[in-house]
Amino acid sequence: MSAAPVPAPVPPVWTVRALLAWTADYFQSKGIESARLEAQILLAHVLNCPRIELVARSDEIPEPGFRKAFREIVTRRVDGWPVAYLTGEREFYLLKFDVSPAVLIPRPDTETLVQEALTRLKGKPSPDVLDLGTGSGCIAVSIAHQHKTSRLTAVDVSPDAAEVAKRNAAKHGVADRVTVLVGDLFAPLPPGSLFDLIVSNPPYVTPTEFDALSPDVRDHEPRGALDGGPDGLAFYRRIASDMGPVLKPGGLVLVEIGATQEEAVRAVFDGKGFTTFPAVRDYGRRPRVVMAMR
Ligand code: GLN
Repeated sequence: MSAAPVPAPVPPVWTVRALLAWTADYFQSKGIESARLEAQILLAHVLNCPRIELVARSDEIPEPGFRKAFREIVTRRVDGWPVAYLTGEREFYLLKFDVSPAVLIPRPDTETLVQEALTRLKGKPSPDVLDLGTGSGCIAVSIAHQHKTSRLTAVDVSPDAAEVAKRNAAKHGVADRVTVLVGDLFAPLPPGSLFDLIVSNPPYVTPTEFDALSPDVRDHEPRGALDGGPDGLAFYRRIASDMGPVLKPGGLVLVEIGATQEEAVRAVFDGKGFTTFPAVRDYGRRPRVVMAMR
């Protein structure tokens, strides 16, 4: 049996250094993995300064108002709220994105999809790209930001998510090339829409996997962005069935997949007459992106 965690001693003066040290210990005692980093991110957010500046401000004693705000945010983190929802932002690829509980928090895994999309778009003068289930818009906005003549259509079924995506397109100066539409997959597209590339990070988690997700994800991130139906493949099937009419000849599809889904997802697209390729791997060497071609 392990002893009950002893709370860290309360320092005589709440300097920035003392706040960080105490909070890092507290987070660690609550089983939060990146305890020190998260304490820094949250304090920097409350003090509205870059994280690196905390070092220079170590001996500063924040006003009681800031300390109260910090205490509240620390409590919410310990209650399970993900850091990105508490600060309202998350870095992804080369940019910082606004996030809210209406959208999935951008994951590093998904940067593999952006990288692959940019590789495929290289040299194309003004490609039309469709992003299905855009959420925060992190994929669409990153592509538009890197490929200066690409035109993006970003679709989400959630009006709240679409608002976040629009905000991110404006924030990064690509709103003129990113059209955000609200609706179910292909439904909101204007008649006659045609794309060179379709990208998507659809919901792909099975009910069993959902129950096993960390409580931070399971209890706070939108279920609609995760739940891929009974076998996790529902959205791949719908995309493969319905994309024919909007894909240009020679058009490509890139979808993010769960680490164990490569064979199953390739079978879905192969079954609809597309040609698929071995999955692109993510930073952790897990299969992460499946490409299908007309
Ligand atoms: N990679 C996400 C997770 O496991 C799932 C994202 C998705 O369903 N598209 O939390």
